[in-house]
Parts: sequence; structure tokens; C-alpha cells
Amino acid sequence: MATKASPYLPADIAHLNPDEITQGYWDSCSRRELAIQRCTACGHFQHPPKQICGSCRAFDLALAPTSGRGKVFTFIVVHHPVHPALGPHLPYNVALVELEDAPGVRIVTNVVDTPPEEIQIGMPVEVAWEEPHPGTVLPRFRRREVNE
Ligand SMILES: [Zn+2]
Repeated sequence: MATKASPYLPADIAHLNPDEITQGYWDSCSRRELAIQRCTACGHFQHPPKQICGSCRAFDLALAPTSGRGKVFTFIVVHHPVHPALGPHLPYNVALVELEDAPGVRIVTNVVDTPPEEIQIGMPVEVAWEEPHPGTVLPRFRRREVNE
């Protein structure tokens, strides 16, 4: 089936409000590039972007492109909507994805293509970009096949 997937959650749930610290991250998302803030002094990765390094307090921070691959660190499946707009989308998952090439970083996201009963801790995933409305590009994740 080559149908275009609809957004995982309602489009109006996601309203970005970037500031000077997070703007670069969202700009990279709009290019479909998952870039994580990294300290150029000590190499520490951190997310979401902050003004200073959480490890060495340096101000020398830059965005480092990643592969977008990772694993499910943990997740929940929501059965009771926290907002009426989410009611038709039950059950939905909220996952923490640990990125392969940004040690220590875990992104709050959703796994978009997997039934709730099949999501597992440690499941390999890769970024799956969603643009619920023009200009808003969100990093969500889908299951990734691993051939070893
Ligand atoms: Zn640092």
C-alpha cells in the first residue's frame, strides 16, 4: 500500500514555539535532519537544546547531525485521553527513544507504525518525519529491521 500516512496524532496538537535556543533544532527538523546539540568543549550531547552544557558549563554548543537510528528506551500506551481531541486516536503510545549516535540522549516521541502490543523496550527504530501542517516537521519513529 502506498497511501500517504496521516499524522499519528491530530495536527493541531503540535504547535511549535521555538526560541533562540531551540530554533536551530527545529530548522534542522524542517530539513528532515535530526541534529542534537553537542558541546564542542567536552563532547556531551544534550536534548532539548539548552543555553549551556549540562556537563561542563561551556557555552560552545553546536548541533550535530545524527543517523536518526535508535532504540526504544521505554514507552507507555495511553488508553484514557488527556485531551478530548485525542479520544479518536486511542490507544496511542508515548515513547522515549535513545539515539544510537548521541549517547545519553532520549527523545520523547511516538512510534508511529507499530501496534501497541508489538512495541518493546529495546526495539530498533529510526526517525520517521511527519509534517502535520506545512512548516511543522516532527521527529517520530518507526520500527527498524536489523540484519546481523
Ligand atoms: Zn561540555
